[in-house]
Amino acid sequence: MTRHTDILIVGGGLVGTSMALALDAIGRDAVLVEASPPPAAATPVADDNDRNLVLAHASVNALRVLGVWPDLERIAGTIRRVEISRAGEFGRARLSADDAGVDALGRVVPGRLLGAALERRLAQCMHVQRLAPAKLLALEPADSAWRARIATAGGDCGIEARLVVGADGSGSNVRALVGIGVQEHDYAQCLFVSTIACERDAPECAFERFSDEGPVALLPLSDRRRGLVLTVSARRHDEVLAMDDAQFLALAQHRFGWKLGAFGRPGRRFPHRIRRVLAEALTAPRAVLVGNAAQALHPIGAQGFNLGLRDALTLAELISQADDPGAPTLLQEYASRRQPDRDGVLAFSHGLVALACLAQPALSPLRSLALATLDGVPPLRRAIARRGMGFRGVPPAATLDGGP
Ligand SMILES: Cc1cc2nc3c(=O)[nH]c(=O)nc-3n(C[C@H](O)[C@H](O)[C@H](O)COP(=O)(O)OP(=O)(O)OC[C@H]3O[C@@H](n4cnc5c(N)ncnc54)[C@H](O)[C@@H]3O)c2cc1C
Repeated sequence: MTRHTDILIVGGGLVGTSMALALDAIGRDAVLVEASPPPAAATPVADDNDRNLVLAHASVNALRVLGVWPDLERIAGTIRRVEISRAGEFGRARLSADDAGVDALGRVVPGRLLGAALERRLAQCMHVQRLAPAKLLALEPADSAWRARIATAGGDCGIEARLVVGADGSGSNVRALVGIGVQEHDYAQCLFVSTIACERDAPECAFERFSDEGPVALLPLSDRRRGLVLTVSARRHDEVLAMDDAQFLALAQHRFGWKLGAFGRPGRRFPHRIRRVLAEALTAPRAVLVGNAAQALHPIGAQGFNLGLRDALTLAELISQADDPGAPTLLQEYASRRQPDRDGVLAFSHGLVALACLAQPALSPLRSLALATLDGVPPLRRAIARRGMGFRGVPPAATLDGGP
């Protein structure tokens, strides 16, 4: 039997679930299919073994509008200042919430608890039905629609939808099935993410320190602990994974320096191989990509979810003004509205990697000068802070201060 829905969202990760909430808020019917079973309820306290995510100011506004933020506010770390520097060079740039005229540049939350908060809201939705575990197997064109074949625990079923939203991550099956190609780039780097304690406090300040081997970031958490993101070249993956805690802390300390005193008490270590995967188009007839299915970035700029959330909210905003959610004009409008934000964030993340990692000593004075110039020019600092907070191009209304 085939069922019919307006919108089929494939993928219930952070972005697909946010998309579902945004559609529910405007009263549009949708079905969300997610390959993994629903997660067990998470204890609502941060844990040293969590992986942390930076939420830009715009994303916090949007999560508030989606009704998710109250669950997170209490446990979220606050970023009011960011300090960017490079080991062995004189330049240093500082961005602050005061410069940008906001209370915080961003917040830091454990990804597990963000997922759990989105799940709790999803369970209250009136217009969105979630199927999980349920996996998209195939898509066939139908009359002004796609007919999807979905594998569920009870056997295969068919869903016909006027719009298919690919929120199924960097290996997107939707993207392949609707014929959108990808460009991939391997950074030959991997990230180790952990939580540590620092001897000295620097309240509400995030640090990004570059070196020839890649950046190291320290994010403020709510309880004086810090999220650590350490980049190493891919060929050191096995060596760093095999290190004991003391060796790992010594490596992080060597890369970051002693500004915050001695590092200690590391939580679990999560390794991630870094690849950039870019869809060659954001739309196909009656299909659209959001989040990592559209673009998976280097995590250095902490922008992936933030950008994906703006994809989802822009799409929901356009759908709220249309009868047919898969109309070609709507999809064109989506692609053109997302372009400046996407291009800007890609250039920012990729440029940051170049600034962070190019080992050429000849570039060192230029790099220092660039950081010092940024530090000394308030309007430039303000402009960069605004972009980092998620305000580029035409931002979705839900991300704006004061709401839609
Ligand atoms: C180390 C690290 C640190 C990061 N830090 C930050 C940060 O600080 N800030 C930030 O904004 N971003 C950050 N990111 C990026 C961010 O985590 C991702 O951009 C975001 O989680 C992507 O979410 P998504 O929902 O698009 O994709 P995914 O999380 O990949 O979700 C895709 C979902 O689709 C499902 N799926 C796949 N195929 C199918 C199918 N055929 N049928 C049904 N379901 C399917 C999968 O099960 C999965 O649940 C970081 C990433 C890394 C690796």
